[in-house]
Amino acid sequence: MNRLFKNLVMAVLLASPGLVQAQAVVKITPLGSHDGEFCRMDRAMLFEDPDGTRILYDAGRTVAGPDDPRLGKIDIVLVSHVHGDHIGNRHNKAPNAGSCAAPDASVDATPLSNSVKIAVAKQAKIVTGSEMPKFFAARMKAAGGDPKDSQLVRFGAMKTIGGVGITTVPAVHSNGLSHEFIGGDLGASLEAAGITAYVGPPTGYVLRFSNGLVVYLSGDTGITAEQDLVVRGHYKAKLVVMNIGDTFTTGPAEAAYVINEMIKPVAVIPSHANEVATENGKVIEGTRTDTFIKASWVPSYVPLSGITMSFDGRGKCVAGC
Ligand SMILES: [Zn+2]
Repeated sequence: MNRLFKNLVMAVLLASPGLVQAQAVVKITPLGSHDGEFCRMDRAMLFEDPDGTRILYDAGRTVAGPDDPRLGKIDIVLVSHVHGDHIGNRHNKAPNAGSCAAPDASVDATPLSNSVKIAVAKQAKIVTGSEMPKFFAARMKAAGGDPKDSQLVRFGAMKTIGGVGITTVPAVHSNGLSHEFIGGDLGASLEAAGITAYVGPPTGYVLRFSNGLVVYLSGDTGITAEQDLVVRGHYKAKLVVMNIGDTFTTGPAEAAYVINEMIKPVAVIPSHANEVATENGKVIEGTRTDTFIKASWVPSYVPLSGITMSFDGRGKCVAGC
């Protein structure tokens, strides 16, 4: 009887692979500056495909270099653009150093960057778009890594690594490389002239995981037509990690418009709020994060550092939310 039941269950599962796929989850763990909170410098997130492929997105300043114990195995490092708070020009000494309002970022990571140091130490690939791959190849070589581990995925292409399809999508922002990554006479001249070096336009990413989940990582961006035409229309993103910081990117009202009227996902994770958004893990009233959550028509899941959220193939949070 028991065996008959098992066979029956197997037969049902084999007949509906979509069901099995949808039950597998993508695990998302924010790697912010302070455990259990959403703090001012928080950008970094870790994504784990059901097949075990692990992706670090915008390491920034809150991942304490390659030795941060929260990292574990890393297969892919994503960098939306080369601004210091994303590539990581500096970083913390250890998780929880400093305060949520003024996180420690005392370790200088130039001219390599936190992202490159982590990728080389983990033997991970850095996957970027626009003109950034050559820059990262040179930095990886300088760090003793393999320049071939810097891989290109330009707008419209899709690269599959492990079980994850990766592409870049346009972001309307800027992407000047600061003199601190260049050094020498050229770096000094650029700094004196008040200009940055060209590494192509900034990007967002779309990730397609092996359980069918499609995630849009906005990077730093304003409102852009591609969020409707490309991210929703073509890729059909079901989960969005949306930067809401204002001044540099969409603020809460603009970000909510992108979610409600343009991408229309199943769920959203606000990010890059540039504020102390939580206290004891609860959103503080009147913050940008609070304003965004109230304005958004779909469930928002606040990225509390170190707390893993699990999403099924349809974009529904099934654990840790
Ligand atoms: Zn930024």
